[in-house]
Amino acid sequence: MSSKKVYDYLVIGGGSGGLASARRASGIHGASVALVEAQHRLGGTCVNVGCVPKKVMWNAASVAEALRDAKSYGYAVQETPRFDWHMIKEKRDAYVKRLNGIYERNLGNDKVEHFQGWASFVNENTVRVQKSETEAIEVQAKNILIATGSHPVAPSIPGAEHAINSDGFFDLEQQPKRVAVVGTGYIGVELAGIFHTLGTETTIFSRTEHILRHFDPIIRDTLLKEMQSTGVNFAFHTKINALKRETSDGPISIEYESNGTPETLEVDCVLWATGRVPNVKGLNLEAAKIKTDEKGYIVVDHFQNTSTSGVYALGDACGNYELTPVAIAAGRRLSDRLFGGAQFSQARLDYENIPTVVFSHPTAGTIGLTEDQAREKYGTENVKTYVSKFTNMYFAMLEHKEPTAYKLVVTGPEEKVVGVHLLGRGSDEILQGFGVAVRMGATKADFDNCVAIHPTAAEELVTMR
Ligand code: FAD
Ligand code: NDP
Repeated sequence: MSSKKVYDYLVIGGGSGGLASARRASGIHGASVALVEAQHRLGGTCVNVGCVPKKVMWNAASVAEALRDAKSYGYAVQETPRFDWHMIKEKRDAYVKRLNGIYERNLGNDKVEHFQGWASFVNENTVRVQKSETEAIEVQAKNILIATGSHPVAPSIPGAEHAINSDGFFDLEQQPKRVAVVGTGYIGVELAGIFHTLGTETTIFSRTEHILRHFDPIIRDTLLKEMQSTGVNFAFHTKINALKRETSDGPISIEYESNGTPETLEVDCVLWATGRVPNVKGLNLEAAKIKTDEKGYIVVDHFQNTSTSGVYALGDACGNYELTPVAIAAGRRLSDRLFGGAQFSQARLDYENIPTVVFSHPTAGTIGLTEDQAREKYGTENVKTYVSKFTNMYFAMLEHKEPTAYKLVVTGPEEKVVGVHLLGRGSDEILQGFGVAVRMGATKADFDNCVAIHPTAAEELVTMR
């Protein structure tokens, strides 16, 4: 069946980017908009199996840390209270469900028509929506946005199916006693940190000697040392060859090579955190002649235009900064450009200087260039760094002294700040404001001219020598 209506805008994917773009186009600019979402719940990765439930678990882990510290601050805590994983999972699921409902209502309030079903291209302005095995409709639009996100991938080795991925993390009904996390990007570091802080014996497998390999060394090296000092196990230079499990709920034996030597490790749960790939399969992109790169990401220009006129793409499906606020900002700007009139004709997201945080223990935040990237871009003689390593006053009363480490990367005689790298308690909250300063082109002198707020950790950033 083909709907007679030709929409101004059809959005494929009801996640961070798709919802934001659809609502801006309809709610603010008055375009006629339809949105297709394959799942029975709106919100996409961030709301259902990403940022939101992850942050709930990170918060739970932070409470565990506070309980551990309580004694040193004079509280008569006799023993570590028992943590009820199942209880917080149920509350978390209910919270996510509430958010799903709010997203649904918001679409209605902004008059976006919502189709539940699988979308695939028929041609460059027609999309087929498979609503069920037997029912499909065709929807036509003058403009089409692809915001289909990404999904986790696992190495293809014997027994790979015995492991879970980040989606499966949120299905765990009980806390595993022993976990192996494979991969040391955002997801590996964050989920391993949550497991460990909540008391699971945690081993991280890295194929190098690093974690967070692409981050500035002040973050990756300081965090690694801190995680090791709190008892996280690391298996470096490893390659996993097979997973073996005799019964469906029995232990998993990991067969791996460490620097070429065969080893085994028995755990209760293995989690692949080995990266994500774009959701492009089944979209029938060929029918609309939409180009992808060698990794499957949809190729777009600065304005989110794909290779086909009238078709746009953004968010994880394009792979440039796979972050929720990036997808949202790109989506809103695109709708402004398409439907907002002449004043928005050049609206687009500037992908430079995007702040990002890792919810590790402690948290890490970064914006701009790493020291190496700055030296490469500006020439080593034109780059200077300011570094401060110290113990946050919070730990003065504690035996364990968690580190804080900050680095500013500056360039030129005016010492323009081109990189801010933070590790330490509160870095997640500190970075946002400094992000504004970097985006405005602040120099080291501008940082220094801001009077410090005392006693805080962030004051170190405006008093660096
Ligand atoms: P998504 O939000 O994934 O939405 C895509 C939607 O498209 C999905 O709902 C999908 O079902 C739908 N879809 C796919 N194919 C079709 C089709 N053919 N037809 C119809 N619908 C389709 N980012 C942060 O900024 N901060 C964080 O703390 C953070 N934590 C994360 C933690 C984890 C564990 C993960 C996995 C990700 C995290 N992210 C975080 C990343 C963030 O979730 C993504 O960058 C963001 O969700 C991408 O938005 P999107 O709109 O591109 O895609
Ligand atoms: P990443 O690309 O960040 O990390 C993938 C990791 O998997 C790397 O450590 C990589 O190792 C490792 N790896 C890949 N293949 C193998 C293999 N065969 N064996 C062992 N290790 C392997 O992806 P993530 O899935 O962690 O995160 C995806 C994106 O989601 C992030 O880039 C981020 O944008 C977003 N995200 C954001 C969060 C936030 O904002 N706080 C939180 C979570 C996700 P190597 O380093 O050696 O390449």
